[in-house]
Amino acid sequence: MPLPFAIAGAAITAVACGLLAAGHVIEPTVPVYAAWYDRPVVLLVDTAPVGATETLAAHDWWAAKGYFVAGAALVTEPPPGVVEGTIVIDGGWLEDNTLGQTRMWWENMPPHSPNRMTFVYIEIVSGLTTETRFAVLVHELGHAFGFAHVETRLPFGIILRPTGHVMNPYVTKTGEKTAGIPVTE
Ligand SMILES: [Zn+2]
Repeated sequence: MPLPFAIAGAAITAVACGLLAAGHVIEPTVPVYAAWYDRPVVLLVDTAPVGATETLAAHDWWAAKGYFVAGAALVTEPPPGVVEGTIVIDGGWLEDNTLGQTRMWWENMPPHSPNRMTFVYIEIVSGLTTETRFAVLVHELGHAFGFAHVETRLPFGIILRPTGHVMNPYVTKTGEKTAGIPVTE
């Protein structure tokens, strides 16, 4: 779609010049869907295309930022329904070049309190390279900890997705950056 892309590119360029001239820096934000009030337990389904070792490594990546689970268990099949307090990691067949998907269940809380995450179901497709699979797993775990996709909101409703950020929605543009994600203890 060359035409919309060209229009968007021109608009972004113009806005960026204006921002630079004014000396403002707009930091990326990572919206929060919900947060765990108690640390969850990971249930890794043994048919999932990820191993226990790389799941632990992906968890370590988040633990370094202060996001932990209480434990993990290998299970032979996914739970039949919602099991509060768990993050299920399973295989899946996803559409539209989607490599991973995370569905979240949460309880709405009063204003100024984060919604209370209750259950998370992660699906990862098969056939990924080790490197891509790890990137997908770390990204989906970010959703499991309650984070949405990174965004930088510019005037005129323009939203940029910073590259090299763990919560960029495109696997080729994900990375180690965590701007907008608070480090907790
Ligand atoms: Zn995502």
